[in-house]
Amino acid sequence: MKMALTIAGSDPTGGAGLQSDIRVFGRLGVRGLSVATALTAQNTSGVDAIYGIEASFIEAQLNSLLNDIRPDALKTGMLYSKDAIRVIVRVIKGFNLENLVIDPVTVSSSGRSLMEDGVLDLIRAELFPLARVVTPNIYEASALSGINVTDEESMEKAALALKDTGPEAIIITGGHLERETLDLILYGGKFYKLRAKKVPGEFHGTGCAFSAVITAYLAKESSVVHAAERAKAFMHEAIIKAHSVGKGMKLLDV
Ligand code: PLP
Repeated sequence: MKMALTIAGSDPTGGAGLQSDIRVFGRLGVRGLSVATALTAQNTSGVDAIYGIEASFIEAQLNSLLNDIRPDALKTGMLYSKDAIRVIVRVIKGFNLENLVIDPVTVSSSGRSLMEDGVLDLIRAELFPLARVVTPNIYEASALSGINVTDEESMEKAALALKDTGPEAIIITGGHLERETLDLILYGGKFYKLRAKKVPGEFHGTGCAFSAVITAYLAKESSVVHAAERAKAFMHEAIIKAHSVGKGMKLLDV
């Protein structure tokens, strides 16, 4: 059985973070492993509080797990602190882990920052060179590249700028573009563009689920482009069937 690890934050609604990642892996026939970087107090309306887990304890979780089980692929989500990133980089190098997908989580859809100052710079400098795929949305791509990403042309420029940081593929997700959703993939020196009709509404955990699908397919030895195509289709389905379970954003059908 293929196994995928998520290193991310806990979301009690299950709509994002560890809980969502494990469900997405399971839906795709991949067994989920998880290491918590932070606990959040949140609901479908927003994040009320964050408790960052001590870096030494993140390292303890990783070492216990990885001394026993080797994942076929892994993803990072909400990493929260710079110390956490340093530990995760050390462990990924130490265990020579492959098929790393980085979702450079910055801010929740409700507007709350999910990281300390300087985290994004450290992710770009230290984690990106180890990654197979990075999956920023247009806001994260703007912050990471310094290019204001608002349309297809600026997505291409930002992807080219981010490619120089080392990942094999850059996938900028365009679910937040105004008219249509366009995911742009830069892989092997070529652009691939995946389009879908925009579904109206506010959805929680889209970035987490998208990167989890990519991770599951890489665990199953798919190509990056095939993984991205499957992720686009999976997300469209999960969004059109999303559930209104609380007073705020809808939760994806995963
Ligand atoms: N909470 C956790 C633990 C997350 O990992 C994320 C996203 O990565 C979020 C909240 C934010 O989800 P959303 O952007 O849908 O608000």
